[in-house]
Amino acid sequence: MSNYKAAVQVLVLPEYFISPQYSPYLLGAKALRDEEVIQLVNHKHIAAYQLEKTLGDMERGVGIRRLIVSAAGKFTEEMADLPYRNYDYNKVLGSCFENVIGYLPVPVGIVGPLLIDGQLYHVPMATTEGCLVASTNCGSRALINCGVTSRIVADGMTRGPVVRFPNIVRASEAMSWMQQPENFQKMKSSFDQTSRFARLTKIHVRIAGRYLFVHFVAKTGDAMGMNMLSKGTEKSLQTVQARFPDMEILSLSGNFCIDKKPAAVNWIEGRGESMVCEAIVPADVVTNVLKTSVHALVDININKNMIGSAVAGSVGGFNAYVANIVTAIFIATGQDPAQNVGSSNCMTLMEPWGAEDKDLYVSCTMPSIEIVTVSGGTGLPAQSACLAMLGIKEAHVAEPGENARKLARIVCATVLAGELSLMAVLTAGH
Ligand code: NAP
Repeated sequence: MSNYKAAVQVLVLPEYFISPQYSPYLLGAKALRDEEVIQLVNHKHIAAYQLEKTLGDMERGVGIRRLIVSAAGKFTEEMADLPYRNYDYNKVLGSCFENVIGYLPVPVGIVGPLLIDGQLYHVPMATTEGCLVASTNCGSRALINCGVTSRIVADGMTRGPVVRFPNIVRASEAMSWMQQPENFQKMKSSFDQTSRFARLTKIHVRIAGRYLFVHFVAKTGDAMGMNMLSKGTEKSLQTVQARFPDMEILSLSGNFCIDKKPAAVNWIEGRGESMVCEAIVPADVVTNVLKTSVHALVDININKNMIGSAVAGSVGGFNAYVANIVTAIFIATGQDPAQNVGSSNCMTLMEPWGAEDKDLYVSCTMPSIEIVTVSGGTGLPAQSACLAMLGIKEAHVAEPGENARKLARIVCATVLAGELSLMAVLTAGH
């Protein structure tokens, strides 16, 4: 039996030890041996999820939880390959994780230098998808002289609560009330007082029978803003409720937001950062670096990304493999990976360019990149290091929101590099 397995053997303590007067809070759980702590967890004197707090030692708490879990599941050997030591759990607990048993190492590759708006970036991508980094890197090589130009065309996170009225008469009255500019100002002033950074910019009300769905749109600085929107929306709805006491707030998220689910509203109206990027790739680069022709690229882009996606009935999926790149950057920089759903909405366009149509014009339009440089997973050590490599760690002090916007530009430009490269490969029939 391995030492690891032996350690998992639960020590059977005498009954008196687990009586209330021996509560770990009286004795000080720190003083106990691991086996004794396990006994107290097994007898429910310590909640397993509170091990770190009770012991006052993050790594030891995680280690003991692993012993308990591996004993219960009889997968001691398997867990040995899941690391847990030398990690700053102070940054995890209470903010972005519970019941921790370790961390998962994901390889991080680098793409670049990628020239975006005149500045060079090395973009970290965390993935287990073979060839993704190599291919995106090839695209960035093709763009090194011409560069990518980016523009942010809109910026606003959304939250869409559902409220109910006794009948359609009251629902439609409330809808008209919210649409009056002076009443919007009242809602905005309630919303804005919940945060130093969240600012309500507009609402969009939809009716379905006696239900109203209110699409709140707000700027949220460098934060992705879902929690901020929830707080502001709640306060704002209380202002509406003061005027319409018969309004029931059914859910602060009524899915009109819409978060982490494919939907036309994010594709059409935008969510988070709405981005567009373009590049003009000279003919010789198309031939020598991408090893294809402008005609072949434009042809396959129309047939695959436009017609093919239309045949498939896609919403926002007029591209080759944008979700791969978005997700790899999201994981590396501590974004919420589930938000790759809306964030990967993209239309890739290609046209012949120049006097003789020998160059290539390429653009990527991404209306709903949900991105953040403060809060969530961005403060974890490795993710924070990746943000630091991009020069956008944490919040932008002078101009809140500027770091999140820069990250959105980087995502969209890297997507453009990836699209260029994959499309070139496809023209060669690979
Ligand atoms: P949050 O951590 O709840 O709020 C951001 C905090 O950072 C606020 O306290 C804000 O101050 C502060 N802050 C400091 N400098 C800032 C700056 N420059 N710009 C913006 N904020 C700044 O973060 P969130 O983005 O609203 O929510 C992100 C979290 O929500 C993630 O953990 C994610 O997993 C989770 N999430 C929640 C939902 C949901 O439905 N609730 C959905 C998806 C994801 P103020 O206090 O003044 O605002």
